[in-house]
Amino acid sequence: MRIDIITLFPEMCEAVLSESIIGRARKNDAVEIHCHQLRDFAFDKHRRVDDAPYGGGMGMLMMAEPIALCFENICEQVGTRPHFIYMSPKGRVVNQQVVRELTGEYENICILCGHYEGVDQRVLDRLIDEELSIGDYVLTGGELPAVVLADALCRMLPGVLSSDECFELESHYGGLLEYPQYTRPEVWREEAVPQVLMSGHHANIEKWRREQAICETARRRPDMLENAPLSDKERAFVAEIMQTENQDQ
Ligand code: SAM
Repeated sequence: MRIDIITLFPEMCEAVLSESIIGRARKNDAVEIHCHQLRDFAFDKHRRVDDAPYGGGMGMLMMAEPIALCFENICEQVGTRPHFIYMSPKGRVVNQQVVRELTGEYENICILCGHYEGVDQRVLDRLIDEELSIGDYVLTGGELPAVVLADALCRMLPGVLSSDECFELESHYGGLLEYPQYTRPEVWREEAVPQVLMSGHHANIEKWRREQAICETARRRPDMLENAPLSDKERAFVAEIMQTENQDQ
């Protein structure tokens, strides 16, 4: 996958996306990421890309033409038109399902980071394919949302993590939250690791982990259970947990 990010602060995005797992993935060519300085497409000597909103009001808006020129330049570089996303608090909220859809459908994604009060509406109407939000709160700019999305996309691409199992068993991918995990020492401040994990009995460990994942989800995010892929036996187990929880309250 190739991801292009249009931003006023490319260094901010690069700083995050050059480190750790994503940084390594880029070096190994598992993913290509390019951060573009929007000001390079400004057309006055002050490299201005914002102006006051018509009708008055607070703050500044990002102008349409530099964004259009930057996107057209990216389309030329890529050789095709990437799926164009604007990070916005008004957008569809990103979850693992959205990330799976995007990695399944698109080879090339371009992300526009807003700043100030946002972007001229005509860009959104004419160029943007979809608006995505990282949650119901407002940040000062789209850079953090863009790197959050880029990270979530990258870790699902082949060759980024050591195997697909790394994300398949994690929270949200399979509709449940992850089971609790433990590492050395076996006893920490008088608290021992659950015995089943020390047994070496793989079938029992798998069974315990599945039950724990269901319990974690029932306790923390009961809203997820309705659509979770559970067997009839597991649904009965959930009903039992919920009954116990209700009795304890
Ligand atoms: N005036 C806009 C509104 O009320 O919807 C908010 C603009 S915000 C201060 C500046 C930029 O930050 C936005 O254009 C967007 O790119 C980004 N942004 C802020 N919060 C976001 C969120 N929750 N998800 C995605 N992007 C966000």
